[in-house]
Amino acid sequence: MNNPTPNWRERAAALALDGRALVDGQRVAGVSGETFEKRSPIDGRRLGDVVRGRAEDVDRAVAAARAAFDDRRWAGKAPAVRKKILQRFADGILAAKEELALLETLDMGKPIRWSLAVDVPATARCITWYAEAVDKVYDEIAPTADNALALITREPMGVVGAIVPWNYPMIMAAWKLGPALAAGNSVVLKPSEKSPFTALRLAEIAIEAGLPPGVFNVVPGYGGEAGEALALHPDVDAIGFTGSTRIGRRMLEYAGRSNLKRVYNELGGKSAFLVFPDADLGRAAETVADSIFFNQGESCNAPSRLLVHDSIADEFAARVAALAPKYTPADPLDPATVMGALVDEQQMSTVLGYIDAGLAEGASCLAGGRRARADSGGFYVEPTVFAGVTNTMRIAREEIFGPVLSVLRFADEAQAVAMANASAYGLQASVWSDNVHRAHRVARALRAGTVHVNQYDEDDMTVPFGGYKQSGNGRDKSLHAFDKYTELKTTWLRINPA
Ligand code: NAD
Repeated sequence: MNNPTPNWRERAAALALDGRALVDGQRVAGVSGETFEKRSPIDGRRLGDVVRGRAEDVDRAVAAARAAFDDRRWAGKAPAVRKKILQRFADGILAAKEELALLETLDMGKPIRWSLAVDVPATARCITWYAEAVDKVYDEIAPTADNALALITREPMGVVGAIVPWNYPMIMAAWKLGPALAAGNSVVLKPSEKSPFTALRLAEIAIEAGLPPGVFNVVPGYGGEAGEALALHPDVDAIGFTGSTRIGRRMLEYAGRSNLKRVYNELGGKSAFLVFPDADLGRAAETVADSIFFNQGESCNAPSRLLVHDSIADEFAARVAALAPKYTPADPLDPATVMGALVDEQQMSTVLGYIDAGLAEGASCLAGGRRARADSGGFYVEPTVFAGVTNTMRIAREEIFGPVLSVLRFADEAQAVAMANASAYGLQASVWSDNVHRAHRVARALRAGTVHVNQYDEDDMTVPFGGYKQSGNGRDKSLHAFDKYTELKTTWLRINPA
């Protein structure tokens, strides 16, 4: 690109953002008329007012979703027809690529280059993947005697509440919408108050593509207000939640206090990246830096614990620290920028608080460690690398959700595995070794939903994504995601003899 920076800025200035909810195919104000103001973390600019959804807004959206489900305007369509409409939805996302990318960048601070190259295409790819799958998934017939026919079929669950975070607003929404809509459910999506705009545009694009009204509704809200009402709602059949482990716990309580709706939690992480001396150390260093600093470190699967063998630990930590300046935050609207702003002031304070905690607990800061670009009016933190970290320090145990890497040392394979597994989380891990036996042994021993070997995050829609332990239950992506949004029905028919 030939420096189109002014272009993005001009476009940003010209945007008129609509923060109304989308219910039953229509943009609507909140029932109470209340809104909240959304500002951009890039520079504090005002983006617009957004509906502050409450229980009555959730009631209205759930009623629309229920009506759409009960009259089978969507679930009753042949899978091949649902496929076509969802494919048009994905095409519409790609056609609106620049607008969606700009909204994502303004809303949550990630660089425009990644919104364009990663978030928008991944969102479209996810919808396409489930569209293509839906008329290729067969049900089962059980082995029975001649006097019976036993069908095992999958039916849509009904009304699905999707509650998503702000770090990948569109992709996280798509991971719920793809399988839930393809299977024939109706959805009420509750985006984060920190990133509401792309969810609303996605619903408009879906409706333009032919999705019937009421099938995909969006209710923005502030803090827990709309999310709690949705998760407590007696007429919601399942909640697909992605967010923090703290709020994931509440989702289970809400289900217990209401209708025992299914709850699928995709939660936090503290993923370990294990480097053995026989690995390709140059590529390992570049990969861990790329992966921890991507998206400002605001990735659930960010490899925030780097575990390195004693014999190479100092040299390897220095190598990673030397790469950090490459990720120095800059203006997210500049296409050359690789690291942008943290989502808001609160998140920046949390991250800076962890940096202080690391220093106070005796870790040594090899790179970064400070706020950056304060005069922009936005919320930026330098890419930060800590060495001398032990597994008892807070920066090794707790999810920071920012550009902070903790380097720990291990003496042998057994200690490496024990340290990696000594975490409340179990989302992902990565093993680096050119010894195929070691790579397999360690991959088997790691308690994580995904183990990467000699790479990080190169997987695609074909494989499940989710966590062991307090990183969640259920899985997003792949055909396994249909398990979350379908009920399994047995139909046993008696066949009389002639
Ligand atoms: P969060 O838990 O604060 O919020 C998630 C969603 O829940 C938001 O929409 C929020 O408005 C809503 N919410 C907040 N309080 C609520 C309440 N009391 N009742 C109902 N809803 C409520 O998380 P976040 O800060 O938006 O996102 C960051 C977290 O998400 C991190 O922990 C990250 O690891 C996790 N995450 C996990 C995955 C995964 O696939 N495992 C992917 C992305 C992010």
